[in-house]
Amino acid sequence: MAHTNVINVVKKHKFSWYEKFYFYSLYKGLFITLKHFIKAAFLNKAVTLEYPEKRRPYSSRFRGMHSLKRDELGRERCTSCFCCMWICPADAIYIEAGQVTPNLQHLHPEDKYAKKFEIDLLRCIFCGLCEEACPKGAIYLDGGGEMAADNRNDLILTKERMTEKVGGPIKGQRV
Ligand code: SF4
Ligand code: SF4
Repeated sequence: MAHTNVINVVKKHKFSWYEKFYFYSLYKGLFITLKHFIKAAFLNKAVTLEYPEKRRPYSSRFRGMHSLKRDELGRERCTSCFCCMWICPADAIYIEAGQVTPNLQHLHPEDKYAKKFEIDLLRCIFCGLCEEACPKGAIYLDGGGEMAADNRNDLILTKERMTEKVGGPIKGQRV
């Protein structure tokens, strides 16, 4: 039987004698609160932003929100193959497939389309695997949008929110 060497890369923090006291952590927390209070009240150095008037810029590594693309004829590229849904490590994608009927053929290139397509931003880890897995170039992380919301429903990206507008610029083409 093969042996596997397991290396523990996480060092266990050893508490010193004073850290073991309840009051140490309590005072440490209160000290941070006091520090921010003094900064904001006396030094005019705000520690919060007046959102939404002022916004903190996203990191340059953040690619964007999910967007669903159209082809050159304005048809939705997604054919509801479920590849993105199966690959998503966070189980954040929910798709319901629909059959393309003759009256919908001008909107969809194949037999199936995504009747419902939702991404739960509370689960998504923005890994980009959905984009990588899509065989149709239908989903990209290049859309605009806000991560802030005051209720959970606004953090569910619906198909209507993600799909490019008809007649808008055709983006995200694969070569
Ligand atoms: S970016 Fe990653 S976690 Fe988010 S929906 Fe796509 S595959 Fe899932
Ligand atoms: S977005 Fe792409 S991978 Fe996901 S269901 Fe549609 S065609 Fe398939």
